[in-house]
Amino acid sequence: MTKKLKILVVAGDGIGPEVTGEAVRVLKSVAELGGYDFQFQERPIGGVAIKAHGSPLPVETLDVALASDAVLLGAVGSNEFNALPPDQRPEAGLLKLRNALGGFANLRPAFAWPSLSSNSPLRPEVVEGADILFVRELLGGLYFGQPRQWDKEANAAWNTMRYTRDEVARVARVAFELAVKRRKKVTSVDKANVLEVSQLWRATVTEIAKQYPGVALEHQYVDACAMHLMNTPRNFDVVLTENLFGDILSDEAAVITGSLGMLPSATIGGAVNLYEPVHGSAPDIAGKSIANPLGAILTAAMLLRYSAGLEDDANAIEAAVRKVLNEGYRTADLGRGVASAKVLSTREMGGRVHAALNELIDRRQAMHAV
Ligand code: NAD
Repeated sequence: MTKKLKILVVAGDGIGPEVTGEAVRVLKSVAELGGYDFQFQERPIGGVAIKAHGSPLPVETLDVALASDAVLLGAVGSNEFNALPPDQRPEAGLLKLRNALGGFANLRPAFAWPSLSSNSPLRPEVVEGADILFVRELLGGLYFGQPRQWDKEANAAWNTMRYTRDEVARVARVAFELAVKRRKKVTSVDKANVLEVSQLWRATVTEIAKQYPGVALEHQYVDACAMHLMNTPRNFDVVLTENLFGDILSDEAAVITGSLGMLPSATIGGAVNLYEPVHGSAPDIAGKSIANPLGAILTAAMLLRYSAGLEDDANAIEAAVRKVLNEGYRTADLGRGVASAKVLSTREMGGRVHAALNELIDRRQAMHAV
């Protein structure tokens, strides 16, 4: 357990500053109530950094990130920069940061909040009780493999899905370690009936599984998994998969939660862990104070869990979110079509979670004092 943390906040563009503001408020409250020493610094990234410093990831931002214990990111992206080449756009700053921090395991929980089951396009009886943790390999596979090229003369293009045994083994270990603390099941997803790279994946995961006899391992082909996730989401616990499959499947599973604004993520395993809500900068609602801050607040809970081992405090944040949702409070993205919803602004929603959290921690401290 670490009670002292240097946290770099890179709020970024659009709704990034609005939602990270609420996440930081919650973290400051946890620090105050728990007597922890959390030091926050802020630096620019994305479009705001291009405007201020001519680069989507200024050297100073990267230096401070590498000297921090954790990085909390809002979102990057702005329509203003759409005409720039991809490597100069705001999103390039985030890709560069992810690479520099070196996290190879991207954790994306997809959790069916009981009071939000009617928000999902799936039937409530299908989603209720679903609680999946995706462990997606983030630094290998098709997104990084060489050779890659669009040969315009030949009118052909290619990318390479490449993994080494060690790259698979290290992310598999993360998945099994997490499964030990959950419902003790890992579903490894591949396409081993067609791809050699998936055969290596499957053989390596099977080998690593032997070190975790208490965890059940099953293998699914990615196409079948896409169907099972929608039909029987409750059957999954930890889903382990490579970069591209994980990108697609974790977005698919987001429908379980009912809104993009509810999804947190953590990228671990590198020099410094990176925490970010799954959503983007949402230019369509930026500045309107209607963004859902719960994905960012739940991301703060992941930060406490994975960078500080403060499991009780992480649980308290999640319990505070649950309480506020159970009381019928919603942001606009969650309140659509629900007549009884009490629709709040970003700040008001953050304030409700903050108040519920203070109450929970006070109660916990009073119990420990008895
Ligand atoms: P987006 O996630 O920003 O928005 C998709 C839709 O979801 C929009 O209608 C938006 O209003 C809504 N939404 C997203 N977050 C919400 C929240 N917290 N509360 C309420 N509604 C929310 O995706 P997009 O529109 O495809 O992309 C916009 C910009 O964000 C682009 O520049 C894109 O490149 C960038 N982007 C950044 C990240 C990141 O920083 N990690 C991720 C995805 C997209």
